[in-house]
Amino acid sequence: MNQSNKRAYNFNAGPSALPLEVLEKAQQELVNFQESGMSIMEMSHRSATFEKVHNEAIFRLRKLFAIPNDYEILFLQGGASLQFTMIPMNFLKNGKTASYIMTGVWSEKAYKEAKLFGEPVQIASTKENQYRNIPTFDEIDVDTDDAYVHVTSNNTIYGTQWTEFPNTGEVPLIADMSSDIMSKPVDISKFDMIYAGAQKNLGPSGVTVVIARKDFLAKANSEIPTILKYSTHAESNSLYNTPPTFGIYMLGEVLKWIEEKGGLTAIAQQNEEKAKLIYDVIDNSNGFYTGHASKESRSLMNITFRVADEELEQQFLSEAKEAGFIGLNGHRSVGGCRASAYNSVPLETCKALSDFMIAFKTKHQ
Ligand SMILES: *Cc1c(COP(=O)(O)O)cnc(C)c1O
Repeated sequence: MNQSNKRAYNFNAGPSALPLEVLEKAQQELVNFQESGMSIMEMSHRSATFEKVHNEAIFRLRKLFAIPNDYEILFLQGGASLQFTMIPMNFLKNGKTASYIMTGVWSEKAYKEAKLFGEPVQIASTKENQYRNIPTFDEIDVDTDDAYVHVTSNNTIYGTQWTEFPNTGEVPLIADMSSDIMSKPVDISKFDMIYAGAQKNLGPSGVTVVIARKDFLAKANSEIPTILKYSTHAESNSLYNTPPTFGIYMLGEVLKWIEEKGGLTAIAQQNEEKAKLIYDVIDNSNGFYTGHASKESRSLMNITFRVADEELEQQFLSEAKEAGFIGLNGHRSVGGCRASAYNSVPLETCKALSDFMIAFKTKHQ
């Protein structure tokens, strides 16, 4: 616990830490938003006050992430998990193929949904290597007939991350960026669609950001339910039905915070520094700590590691908990330890963990 403001050392994987400044601003404005006499949660999503908040969030997202004008920005609900279904529902046809590059549990879930609509093909997978790495480009062979290629840019559970993306030529590239969206600048023009649940890098749960090329959206299947068509949301500026208004407000505030921090180049630099603090301890521990991911595929967002033996690992986790570190248990499907150091996790929090890891090793090796 950081005694000065009672904030935990929060390494939760998602929902995860939000900037203290944003939480305090939201608290200040909570009961009387901009002299309206009510909270942002209590007003119409058609009101001029909310629409301004909504449009500013879209505007800031476009500016900060350098999203070209021929891309739609949508705020949807249902999490990234609904995107696993909406993508094949909209873009895959019975009998048609789409390529899935398998780098973890989230890719597996996306692939499974696509099977309901067409013929997804696993064109590359690192499952045999316990998803320790991202495939190399020469392992990836895209079929030009594919409706799209799907990748998971950051693998939240295994702690791996793409640094460069394959060139898929004419075949649209779609990325699930749930756990590293806006953690660094990305060349948006490489993608036809990017999607992400907000709750890791951008805000609270309840909002899903979708960024998609307009001419790609125009190719969607039409015989599907209205609410599950991207075009429905694109045509109504994501106000077809009641959006998650508070979540969109918070997202907008997080984007302002990113802007104040100096934008994505500054954020990326800080993320590198933060991850390095922890990876350096792992690498200099003579095997006391071992990373799960291969070095060349390491994620700057989710740092996965093991402690020398099972018993010591349990002790590490319980001593860390006592010392005020939250969320260091690995995902229930893989075990071990995981520190999620998303955008809003302060450098000091990572420094505190790196100091704790060094002290624990000195005490127990
Ligand atoms: C968390 C996560 C998801 C699931 O997101 P929901 O919003 O809970 O549906 C999907 N993909 C990745 C990469 C994630 O990290």
